[in-house]
Amino acid sequence: AAKERGKAGHVRYVPGMEEPVLAHIQLGGEIRRGLDAGEFRVVYQPLVALGTGRIVGVEALVRWNHPIRGTVPPIEFIPAAERTGLIVELGRFVLRETCRQTAAWLAEFGPDALQRPAVNVSARQLHDPDFVADVLAALADNGLSTDRLVLELTESAVLRGGQVSQTLHELDRLGIKLALDDFGTGESSLSLLRAFPAAIVKLDKSFVDGIEIDDASPSARDARQAVARAVVQLADALGLETVAEGIENEAQVEQLRALGYVYGQGYHLARPMAAGDFTALLAAQRADSPMRT
Ligand code: C2E
Ligand code: MG
Ligand code: MG
Ligand code: MG
Repeated sequence: AAKERGKAGHVRYVPGMEEPVLAHIQLGGEIRRGLDAGEFRVVYQPLVALGTGRIVGVEALVRWNHPIRGTVPPIEFIPAAERTGLIVELGRFVLRETCRQTAAWLAEFGPDALQRPAVNVSARQLHDPDFVADVLAALADNGLSTDRLVLELTESAVLRGGQVSQTLHELDRLGIKLALDDFGTGESSLSLLRAFPAAIVKLDKSFVDGIEIDDASPSARDARQAVARAVVQLADALGLETVAEGIENEAQVEQLRALGYVYGQGYHLARPMAAGDFTALLAAQRADSPMRT
């Protein structure tokens, strides 16, 4: 890749490789410019009830509409935004935009059209002393109560210790639900569940991949399903909700349902989309079953 970690830990674009356009640009400065120019936007991936196919929620995912590179995915700028601290401002934008959009959806489709939207949060944001106040303001400014939001955190974000743990417990006390994202990929997923006030675990895509493969050897399939099965059993025992991530075909839906998963996300169910397209999906869903919206 054209990316390299410099000694100071920042991303450097090496000239002459796959990313010549950005080769000479400090990515942090570019993000700063993009924020000022309003180039970031939020797309929304539906959260679906696997049993009925109904949309019950949504995850907000940030995108960068770069004037030269086009749509840039988060993997290419979130790490730099974290290292430069710009993730605090970027994250605040995603949160406010998602709350504004959610309030509009609830106004149009009613309070039951959509449960809590989920917003991804980086460790760096949890260290920001204004984080909790910012979250509460984003909700209040849009007339949303605290039970209208899920914050998704990865294990590495949560593992950063003392101050973060206090912040997480404060959010939990306020009624904001916390989801452990990419669950199962970290080194201490299980012990973390005891210390961390999680309400939701999101089974990582890597444990969904291949779960449906039906080969001659039942034990090979059992092995592939073992983590998905263990996670849903643990979550049930602890009273947590589960979401399976990265579902790419109907056979995976069937397997996950059989294992006890109630909610899922994935390209097979719906891709991340612009707000207007999600509005159209909610409208179609209402037309399907007007009594239930
Ligand atoms: P994540 O939170 O685990 O989000 C799921 C990612 O998987 C998203 O990628 C989504 O588009 C993708 N995905 C969903 N279904 C499928 C599928 O069936 N197959 C495959 N191959 N992929 C699927 P995306 O949008 O590129 O985001 C990547 C990561 O960037 C996110 O992982 C999250 O960790 C981070 N991220 C995205 N938006 C934000 C944000 O606003 N703030 C922060 N701090 N991080 C963000
Ligand atoms: Mg997420
Ligand atoms: Mg995830
Ligand atoms: Mg993931």
